Amino acid sequence: MTTLEVRGLTKVFSIRSGLRRSALRAVDNVSFTLTPGRTVALVGESGSGKSTVARMIARLEKPTAGKITAIRPDGTPVGGRAYRDHVQMVFQDPFASLNPFHTVEHHLARPLKLHGRARGREETRRMVEQLLERVNLTPAADIAQRRPHELSGGQRQRVAIARALAPGARVVIADEPVSMLDVSIRLGVLNLLARLQREDDLAVLYITHDLATARHFSDDILVMYRGRVVERGPADEVILNPRHPYTRILAAAAPDPDARDRARLTEVPDPEPAGGSALPGDDPGCTFRDRCPSAMEICARLPEDVAVGRDHHARCWLHAGDGHGARPAAGGATAERPA
Ligand code: ADP
Ligand code: MG
Repeated sequence: MTTLEVRGLTKVFSIRSGLRRSALRAVDNVSFTLTPGRTVALVGESGSGKSTVARMIARLEKPTAGKITAIRPDGTPVGGRAYRDHVQMVFQDPFASLNPFHTVEHHLARPLKLHGRARGREETRRMVEQLLERVNLTPAADIAQRRPHELSGGQRQRVAIARALAPGARVVIADEPVSMLDVSIRLGVLNLLARLQREDDLAVLYITHDLATARHFSDDILVMYRGRVVERGPADEVILNPRHPYTRILAAAAPDPDARDRARLTEVPDPEPAGGSALPGDDPGCTFRDRCPSAMEICARLPEDVAVGRDHHARCWLHAGDGHGARPAAGGATAERPA
């Protein structure tokens, strides 16, 4: 069992447009912990920095600042090669993550052998088939001989999940694992991930822009907006009692059977993020303020992370007056809830 601690994770990209160079703070001071047997959902619109967080955890991208530590139950850190075995990714596009020239068996046998989990052809073949059965790809012996193009999108993603398990995954980072799949098969793949998590006591980060599945499949939710976590807390709390204006807009727009619980929320989000103009190069304030229905003068300053409930935090000046920090500036709206 492995716990993954992320502390102060930051990524600044240097981007060039014509002759100008500018800094894009794609991920800004993000912290969370993934624990065995639990799922944390990372939600937010496109461009908010979710995949950059995933890529840093997978060591595909180097953090500008901050720390990522995998820790065994006895407190020792999981380093080097072992980290790569323990922490596995499932990407959005299963086709791109599989080699078109190789069979399913090859994809799964490689990590099994590489990580010393199977020796000899017979044992390897048996373990490959066991993995395929675990992800409901049967008859396993038949599937094992196919190449990626001979599988459906859902089957390919199941192969990608089996491949994540092959080296002995303890932590799984699933970056929009069903968003490219047909709507009708998404739940099947998410249910599979949930079952494997229970069976193997995996720590899971589920990245999505779909609030309904985030709520259903996760224990805790982190809401990201332009590189920052603006709200975090228990899944039901965050969805049914959102406290950050951005989360309120997201929750109001989410198609969900419990929508009546939130009938009072009527705002509709912009279809597009509000342009690249105010990307958080080094915005000293709240990056949501140009879209926020409750924006105040003080929002030009970065709000602190404020406790708004049990294990529930929001980074918003609306909640900063409750004995935790400064009050909203005079003349600004002081209402507890946005109108
Ligand atoms: P999400 O997964 O939430 O859609 P990303 O993490 O992919 O967001 O991207 C966050 C921001 O970082 C975006 O503005 C994106 O354009 C930018 N970005 C991502 N990767 C790079 C890169 N390699 N170089 C420059 N900018 C990048
Ligand atoms: Mg992404």
